[in-house]
Amino acid sequence: AQHLLEVKDLFVEFHTRDGVARVINGVSYHLDPGETLAVLGESGSGKSVTAQAIMGILDMPPAKIPSGQILYKGEDLLAMPEEKRRQVRGKEIAMIFQDALSALNPVFPVGWQISETLRTRAGMSKKDATRRAIELMDQVKIPAAKARVKDYPHQFSGGMRQRVMIAMALAMDPKVLIADEPTTALDVTVQAQIMDLLADLRRDLNMGLILITHDLGVVADVADRIAVMYAGRIIEHADVHSLYKSPAHPYTQGLLDSIPRLDSKGTELATIKGLPPNLLRPPTGCAFHPRCPYVKSVCTTSTPRSLDLGHGRTSACHFAKEMLDGTLR
Ligand code: SF4
Ligand code: MG
Repeated sequence: AQHLLEVKDLFVEFHTRDGVARVINGVSYHLDPGETLAVLGESGSGKSVTAQAIMGILDMPPAKIPSGQILYKGEDLLAMPEEKRRQVRGKEIAMIFQDALSALNPVFPVGWQISETLRTRAGMSKKDATRRAIELMDQVKIPAAKARVKDYPHQFSGGMRQRVMIAMALAMDPKVLIADEPTTALDVTVQAQIMDLLADLRRDLNMGLILITHDLGVVADVADRIAVMYAGRIIEHADVHSLYKSPAHPYTQGLLDSIPRLDSKGTELATIKGLPPNLLRPPTGCAFHPRCPYVKSVCTTSTPRSLDLGHGRTSACHFAKEMLDGTLR
Protein backbone atom coordinates (compact mmCIF):
# COMPACT_ATOMS: atom_id res chain seq x y z
CA ALA A 1 0.00 0.00 0.00
CA GLN A 2 1.10 3.55 -0.64
CA HIS A 3 1.87 5.54 2.48
CA LEU A 4 1.67 9.26 3.05
CA LEU A 5 5.40 9.31 3.73
CA GLU A 6 7.84 6.46 3.40
CA VAL A 7 11.58 6.44 3.99
CA LYS A 8 13.03 3.44 2.18
CA ASP A 9 16.44 1.96 2.84
CA LEU A 10 18.02 5.37 3.32
CA PHE A 11 21.77 5.81 3.73
CA VAL A 12 23.47 9.07 4.73
CA GLU A 13 27.21 9.62 5.08
CA PHE A 14 29.14 12.54 6.54
CA HIS A 15 32.44 13.16 4.83
CA THR A 16 34.76 14.60 7.44
CA ARG A 17 38.49 15.29 7.65
CA ASP A 18 38.82 12.16 9.77
CA GLY A 19 36.98 9.93 7.35
CA VAL A 20 33.49 8.88 6.35
CA ALA A 21 30.88 8.47 9.08
CA ARG A 22 27.94 6.33 8.03
CA VAL A 23 25.31 8.11 10.08
CA ILE A 24 22.23 6.49 8.53
CA ASN A 25 22.54 2.83 7.57
CA GLY A 26 19.47 1.62 5.73
CA VAL A 27 16.63 3.30 7.60
CA SER A 28 13.05 2.55 6.56
CA TYR A 29 9.86 3.83 8.13
CA HIS A 30 6.43 4.96 7.06
CA LEU A 31 3.70 7.29 8.17
CA ASP A 32 -0.01 7.51 7.36
CA PRO A 33 -2.50 10.36 7.83
CA GLY A 34 -3.68 10.88 11.40
CA GLU A 35 -1.02 8.76 13.05
CA THR A 36 1.96 9.52 15.23
CA LEU A 37 5.30 7.82 14.80
CA ALA A 38 7.84 8.44 17.55
CA VAL A 39 11.46 8.16 16.49
CA LEU A 40 13.48 7.51 19.58
CA GLY A 41 17.20 7.47 20.20
CA GLU A 42 20.18 9.04 21.93
CA SER A 43 21.91 12.02 20.42
CA GLY A 44 23.91 10.87 17.38
CA SER A 45 21.61 7.91 16.66
CA GLY A 46 20.51 9.46 13.36
CA LYS A 47 16.95 10.37 14.28
CA SER A 48 17.37 14.06 13.43
CA VAL A 49 19.51 13.37 10.36
CA THR A 50 16.74 11.23 8.86
CA ALA A 51 14.30 14.11 9.37
CA GLN A 52 16.78 16.59 7.90
CA ALA A 53 17.08 14.36 4.83
CA ILE A 54 13.28 14.39 4.50
CA MET A 55 13.25 18.19 4.76
CA GLY A 56 16.26 18.68 2.51
CA ILE A 57 18.15 20.62 5.16
CA LEU A 58 21.24 18.46 5.44
CA ASP A 59 24.48 20.28 4.68
CA MET A 60 25.41 18.81 1.28
CA PRO A 61 28.37 18.26 1.36
CA PRO A 62 29.66 17.14 3.87
CA ALA A 63 26.49 15.01 3.94
CA LYS A 64 25.84 12.61 1.06
CA ILE A 65 22.91 10.34 0.35
CA PRO A 66 24.48 7.39 -1.50
CA SER A 67 21.19 5.52 -1.76
CA GLY A 68 17.62 5.29 -0.60
CA GLN A 69 14.24 6.83 -1.30
CA ILE A 70 12.00 9.31 0.49
CA LEU A 71 8.54 8.78 -0.93
CA TYR A 72 5.85 11.39 -0.42
CA LYS A 73 2.52 9.99 -1.66
CA GLY A 74 4.53 7.49 -3.66
CA GLU A 75 6.87 9.99 -5.32
CA ASP A 76 10.55 10.06 -4.48
CA LEU A 77 11.62 13.44 -3.09
CA LEU A 78 15.24 12.61 -3.87
CA ALA A 79 14.50 12.06 -7.56
CA MET A 80 11.79 14.61 -8.41
CA PRO A 81 12.50 17.95 -10.13
CA GLU A 82 13.79 20.66 -7.80
CA GLU A 83 10.73 22.90 -8.28
CA LYS A 84 8.31 20.15 -7.27
CA ARG A 85 10.49 19.10 -4.38
CA ARG A 86 10.41 22.66 -3.03
CA GLN A 87 6.62 22.62 -3.25
CA VAL A 88 6.36 19.45 -1.20
CA ARG A 89 8.91 20.51 1.39
CA GLY A 90 7.54 24.00 1.84
CA LYS A 91 3.88 23.14 1.88
CA GLU A 92 3.12 19.46 2.45
CA ILE A 93 5.81 18.67 5.02
CA ALA A 94 6.66 21.07 7.86
CA MET A 95 9.09 20.81 10.74
CA ILE A 96 9.46 22.34 14.19
CA PHE A 97 12.59 22.37 16.29
CA GLN A 98 13.63 22.29 19.91
CA ASP A 99 14.72 25.84 20.36
CA ALA A 100 11.77 28.13 19.66
CA LEU A 101 13.52 31.24 20.94
CA SER A 102 16.42 31.15 18.51
CA ALA A 103 14.16 30.09 15.64
CA LEU A 104 11.97 33.18 16.05
CA ASN A 105 13.15 36.58 14.92
CA PRO A 106 13.23 38.94 17.93
CA VAL A 107 12.51 42.08 15.92
CA PHE A 108 9.22 41.05 14.26
CA PRO A 109 5.81 40.54 15.90
CA VAL A 110 4.80 36.88 16.18
CA GLY A 111 1.76 37.36 13.94
CA TRP A 112 3.99 38.75 11.20
CA GLN A 113 6.25 35.70 11.47
CA ILE A 114 3.36 33.22 11.50
CA SER A 115 1.88 34.80 8.39
CA GLU A 116 5.15 35.28 6.53
CA THR A 117 4.83 32.20 4.30
CA LEU A 118 1.21 33.13 3.59
CA ARG A 119 2.31 36.51 2.27
CA THR A 120 5.46 35.42 0.48
CA ARG A 121 4.48 31.97 -0.81
CA ALA A 122 0.69 31.94 -0.95
CA GLY A 123 0.42 35.58 -2.08
CA MET A 124 -2.07 36.53 0.64
CA SER A 125 -2.74 40.20 1.43
CA LYS A 126 -1.41 41.59 4.72
CA LYS A 127 -4.91 41.86 6.11
CA ASP A 128 -5.92 38.29 5.23
CA ALA A 129 -2.59 36.94 6.41
CA THR A 130 -3.01 38.64 9.79
CA ARG A 131 -6.51 37.25 10.12
CA ARG A 132 -5.18 33.78 9.35
CA ALA A 133 -2.33 34.26 11.87
CA ILE A 134 -4.91 34.96 14.57
CA GLU A 135 -6.83 31.81 13.59
CA LEU A 136 -3.63 29.79 13.79
CA MET A 137 -2.78 31.28 17.21
CA ASP A 138 -6.26 30.26 18.36
CA GLN A 139 -5.74 26.80 16.95
CA VAL A 140 -2.54 26.31 18.97
CA LYS A 141 -4.40 27.65 22.03
CA ILE A 142 -2.54 30.89 22.59
CA PRO A 143 -4.94 32.86 24.81
CA ALA A 144 -6.17 36.25 23.57
CA ALA A 145 -4.70 35.68 20.11
CA LYS A 146 -6.26 38.79 18.63
CA ALA A 147 -4.73 41.02 21.30
CA ARG A 148 -1.33 39.31 21.11
CA VAL A 149 -0.79 39.02 17.36
CA LYS A 150 1.42 42.14 17.38
CA ASP A 151 3.45 41.11 20.43
CA TYR A 152 7.12 40.17 20.11
CA PRO A 153 8.67 36.76 20.90
CA HIS A 154 10.25 37.96 24.18
CA GLN A 155 6.76 38.80 25.48
CA PHE A 156 5.84 35.09 25.41
CA SER A 157 6.81 32.26 27.76
CA GLY A 158 8.87 29.32 26.45
CA GLY A 159 5.79 27.16 26.04
CA MET A 160 3.89 29.93 24.25
CA ARG A 161 6.85 30.51 21.92
CA GLN A 162 6.79 26.83 21.03
CA ARG A 163 3.08 27.26 20.23
CA VAL A 164 3.99 30.17 17.96
CA MET A 165 6.47 27.88 16.17
CA ILE A 166 3.76 25.26 15.74
CA ALA A 167 1.40 27.89 14.35
CA MET A 168 4.09 28.90 11.83
CA ALA A 169 4.52 25.27 10.80
CA LEU A 170 0.76 24.90 10.31
CA ALA A 171 0.39 27.99 8.15
CA MET A 172 0.53 26.12 4.84
CA ASP A 173 -1.73 23.25 6.02
CA PRO A 174 0.96 20.56 5.97
CA LYS A 175 0.02 16.89 5.71
CA VAL A 176 3.12 15.83 7.63
CA LEU A 177 4.49 17.59 10.71
CA ILE A 178 7.93 16.62 11.98
CA ALA A 179 8.71 17.74 15.53
CA ASP A 180 12.37 17.39 16.53
CA GLU A 181 12.64 17.35 20.33
CA PRO A 182 9.83 19.91 20.54
CA THR A 183 9.68 19.96 24.32
CA THR A 184 13.24 19.33 25.44
CA ALA A 185 13.85 22.96 26.43
CA LEU A 186 10.62 23.17 28.44
CA ASP A 187 9.70 22.17 31.97
CA VAL A 188 7.76 18.97 32.55
CA THR A 189 4.26 20.43 32.90
CA VAL A 190 4.64 22.52 29.75
CA GLN A 191 6.10 19.48 27.92
CA ALA A 192 2.90 17.55 28.55
CA GLN A 193 0.76 20.46 27.36
CA ILE A 194 2.70 20.77 24.09
CA MET A 195 2.49 17.00 23.53
CA ASP A 196 -1.28 17.14 24.10
CA LEU A 197 -1.56 20.02 21.66
CA LEU A 198 0.40 18.12 18.98
CA ALA A 199 -1.78 15.06 19.51
CA ASP A 200 -4.97 17.15 19.20
CA LEU A 201 -3.75 18.92 16.06
CA ARG A 202 -2.76 15.64 14.46
CA ARG A 203 -6.25 14.31 15.07
CA ASP A 204 -8.17 17.47 14.12
CA LEU A 205 -6.14 18.11 10.96
CA ASN A 206 -5.60 14.42 10.11
CA MET A 207 -1.86 15.04 9.77
CA GLY A 208 0.87 12.47 10.01
CA LEU A 209 3.08 13.41 12.98
CA ILE A 210 6.70 12.36 13.49
CA LEU A 211 7.91 12.98 17.02
CA ILE A 212 11.67 12.82 17.38
CA THR A 213 12.83 12.42 20.95
CA HIS A 214 15.44 10.94 23.26
CA ASP A 215 12.83 10.54 25.97
CA LEU A 216 10.59 7.49 25.83
CA GLY A 217 8.55 8.85 28.74
CA VAL A 218 7.42 11.92 26.78
CA VAL A 219 5.90 10.05 23.84
CA ALA A 220 4.22 7.16 25.65
CA ASP A 221 0.77 8.74 25.66
CA VAL A 222 0.75 10.25 22.18
CA ALA A 223 2.59 7.87 19.83
CA ASP A 224 0.93 5.06 17.87
CA ARG A 225 4.17 3.40 16.84
CA ILE A 226 7.78 3.77 17.90
CA ALA A 227 10.95 3.36 15.85
CA VAL A 228 14.00 3.04 18.09
CA MET A 229 17.27 4.13 16.48
CA TYR A 230 20.82 3.21 17.38
CA ALA A 231 23.97 4.00 15.40
CA GLY A 232 22.02 4.97 12.28
CA ARG A 233 19.73 1.95 12.23
CA ILE A 234 16.21 1.26 13.40
CA ILE A 235 16.88 -1.47 15.92
CA GLU A 236 13.29 -1.94 16.98
CA HIS A 237 9.92 -0.95 15.56
CA ALA A 238 6.61 -1.71 17.24
CA ASP A 239 3.28 -0.31 18.28
CA VAL A 240 3.59 1.55 21.56
CA HIS A 241 1.68 -0.97 23.62
CA SER A 242 3.76 -3.98 22.55
CA LEU A 243 7.00 -2.10 22.91
CA TYR A 244 6.24 -1.05 26.49
CA LYS A 245 4.89 -4.43 27.43
CA SER A 246 7.73 -6.50 26.05
CA PRO A 247 10.66 -4.85 24.29
CA ALA A 248 12.27 -7.05 21.63
CA HIS A 249 15.72 -5.44 21.77
CA PRO A 250 18.08 -5.08 24.75
CA TYR A 251 18.64 -1.39 23.96
CA THR A 252 14.89 -0.68 24.12
CA GLN A 253 14.76 -2.53 27.41
CA GLY A 254 17.56 -0.30 28.69
CA LEU A 255 15.62 2.81 27.64
CA LEU A 256 12.47 1.55 29.35
CA ASP A 257 14.37 0.80 32.54
CA SER A 258 15.69 4.34 32.63
CA ILE A 259 12.30 6.09 32.50
CA PRO A 260 11.38 7.58 35.86
CA ARG A 261 8.05 6.09 36.94
CA LEU A 262 5.66 7.65 39.38
CA ASP A 263 5.00 4.30 41.01
CA SER A 264 8.67 3.42 41.56
CA LYS A 265 9.16 3.84 45.28
CA GLY A 266 12.58 5.40 45.43
CA THR A 267 14.24 2.54 43.60
CA GLU A 268 17.30 3.65 41.73
CA LEU A 269 16.94 4.19 38.01
CA ALA A 270 18.93 1.99 35.73
CA THR A 271 20.90 3.75 33.04
CA ILE A 272 22.47 2.21 29.98
CA LYS A 273 26.18 1.92 30.63
CA GLY A 274 28.72 3.18 28.14
CA LEU A 275 28.52 5.71 25.33
CA PRO A 276 26.96 5.69 21.88
CA PRO A 277 29.48 4.50 19.29
CA ASN A 278 31.79 6.70 17.27
CA LEU A 279 30.40 6.30 13.76
CA LEU A 280 33.81 6.96 12.20
CA ARG A 281 34.94 3.72 13.84
CA PRO A 282 31.78 1.75 14.60
CA PRO A 283 31.99 -1.49 16.58
CA THR A 284 32.08 -4.71 14.57
CA GLY A 285 28.97 -6.88 14.52
CA CYS A 286 26.06 -5.47 16.48
CA ALA A 287 26.77 -1.77 17.10
CA PHE A 288 25.21 -2.10 20.56
CA HIS A 289 27.45 -5.01 21.62
CA PRO A 290 29.93 -3.01 23.75
CA ARG A 291 27.01 -1.89 25.95
CA CYS A 292 24.72 -4.91 25.77
CA PRO A 293 24.21 -6.90 28.99
CA TYR A 294 23.45 -10.05 26.93
CA VAL A 295 26.35 -9.87 24.45
CA LYS A 296 27.49 -13.25 23.02
CA SER A 297 30.42 -13.94 20.76
CA VAL A 298 28.30 -13.96 17.58
CA CYS A 299 27.28 -10.37 18.40
CA THR A 300 30.85 -9.13 18.04
CA THR A 301 31.28 -10.48 14.51
CA SER A 302 27.89 -10.56 12.81
CA THR A 303 25.61 -7.56 12.27
CA PRO A 304 22.04 -8.53 13.12
CA ARG A 305 19.46 -8.06 10.37
CA SER A 306 16.11 -6.56 11.15
CA LEU A 307 13.98 -9.57 12.08
CA ASP A 308 10.27 -9.57 11.27
CA LEU A 309 8.38 -10.54 14.42
CA GLY A 310 4.91 -10.16 12.93
CA HIS A 311 2.23 -7.48 13.45
CA GLY A 312 4.61 -4.81 12.14
CA ARG A 313 7.20 -5.55 14.82
CA THR A 314 10.86 -5.76 13.95
CA SER A 315 14.02 -6.12 15.98
CA ALA A 316 17.65 -6.06 14.91
CA CYS A 317 18.97 -8.36 17.62
CA HIS A 318 20.25 -11.90 17.06
CA PHE A 319 18.24 -12.93 20.09
CA ALA A 320 15.01 -11.01 19.50
CA LYS A 321 12.84 -14.09 19.98
CA GLU A 322 14.54 -14.98 23.23
CA MET A 323 14.11 -11.35 24.34
CA LEU A 324 10.36 -11.63 23.72
CA ASP A 325 10.15 -15.01 25.45
CA GLY A 326 12.01 -13.62 28.42
CA THR A 327 14.61 -16.37 28.09
CA LEU A 328 17.61 -14.22 27.11
CA ARG A 329 20.27 -14.32 29.80
FE1 SF4 B 1 22.89 -7.55 22.44
FE2 SF4 B 1 23.79 -9.36 20.71
FE3 SF4 B 1 21.28 -8.51 20.56
FE4 SF4 B 1 23.27 -6.88 19.88
S1 SF4 B 1 22.70 -8.77 18.85
S2 SF4 B 1 21.54 -6.37 21.12
S3 SF4 B 1 24.84 -7.46 21.37
S4 SF4 B 1 22.21 -9.65 22.25
MG1 MG C 1 18.92 15.90 17.30
